[in-house]
Amino acid sequence: YLRPSKTSNRQQLSAFARLLSSLAVLEQREGKLQSASLSAVTAAQKLGGSITGFIAGSGIRSVVEEAAKVEGVEKIVMVENSAYDKALPESYAPLLAENIKKEGFTHVFAGHSAFGKNLMPRVSALLDVQQISDITAIKGEDTFVRPTYAGNAILTVQSSDKIKIITIRGTAFATAEAEGGSAEITEGVDPKVEIETEWLSEDLAKSNRPDLATASKVVSGGRGLKSKEDFDRIIPPLADALGAAIGASRAAVDSGFADNSLQVGQTGKNVAPQLYLCAGISGAIQHLAGMKDSKVIAAINKDADAPIFQVADVGLIGNLFDKVPELTEKLKQ
Ligand code: FAD
Repeated sequence: YLRPSKTSNRQQLSAFARLLSSLAVLEQREGKLQSASLSAVTAAQKLGGSITGFIAGSGIRSVVEEAAKVEGVEKIVMVENSAYDKALPESYAPLLAENIKKEGFTHVFAGHSAFGKNLMPRVSALLDVQQISDITAIKGEDTFVRPTYAGNAILTVQSSDKIKIITIRGTAFATAEAEGGSAEITEGVDPKVEIETEWLSEDLAKSNRPDLATASKVVSGGRGLKSKEDFDRIIPPLADALGAAIGASRAAVDSGFADNSLQVGQTGKNVAPQLYLCAGISGAIQHLAGMKDSKVIAAINKDADAPIFQVADVGLIGNLFDKVPELTEKLKQ
């Protein structure tokens, strides 16, 4: 005999949400929390259920305490060991897999960043589940939305795996509030796996400008800039006047006008700033794939038929070598 349930749909959903338990994998570099990884907490919040943060490395006490204050996080699992400082997937993936098994998480979220993309496929393989990549929305406990074919088609995917290993597109989930939580801090298990990979060195592009992936304003230049000298003469002053990060099209990167780390698009970075201002960029589909979710798109191009004008909210038809310096001067005033 089944007693008829008097609980409403909403009550049933929230009872169900309590059974969900998510792990947000938080990236730290040299004892600093990478704020972009807090989007993983937001994704977990959208799902519902309990949220745990995970941090590993050496000298992480202050970053763990910072993460414990993040709104919505109930618990932080920390593993203090310098072997995880560079997040080498060979050792970090087994570490994560062991902690996921121990705590019995139903969902694991990480950013679809170099860190997450390096790590999560190995974690999925170790747990023998299918990874769900680069999601932009959560439809339910097992159903997620993700773009494919450079954003030209949207997939809704359903997973029957017991543990969902998910990377999230940062531009689709805001970073969680840094204040408002008071999570319990616990020590995780450390399998101390011996690996044959050794971290030797890294060569990071250093810049005082806002980070391209998370900046609220981006100024991008394309092949229309003609040379590296012109790119450097025209684009940075406008970016400085706006307090913006600098981006570039692949053609500009391939021509040597801008560093590879500045490429926006299908094979570059995904950005969704408040303002995306671009000059000398035609608006090829592969470029649009990386910036079309920007709140306001402004384009300067001498060709009135350039496809960028089809997505631009504001367009200026003209020679960028006149228009950009003019705009820069006006902004400075
Ligand atoms: P062009 O298409 O050459 O456009 C230059 C524009 O500048 C033109 O519209 C022209 O009218 C304008 N212009 C020229 N002179 C002036 C002037 N004086 N004043 C004003 N306007 C001027 N591209 C990306 O950007 N990002 C990616 O991630 C990416 N991934 C790709 C992946 C694949 C698999 C493939 C096949 C391609 C990819 N591309 C990517 C390349 C993409 O297809 C385009 O070739 C590229 O975006 C073009 O860059 P562009 O707009 O700077 O150059």
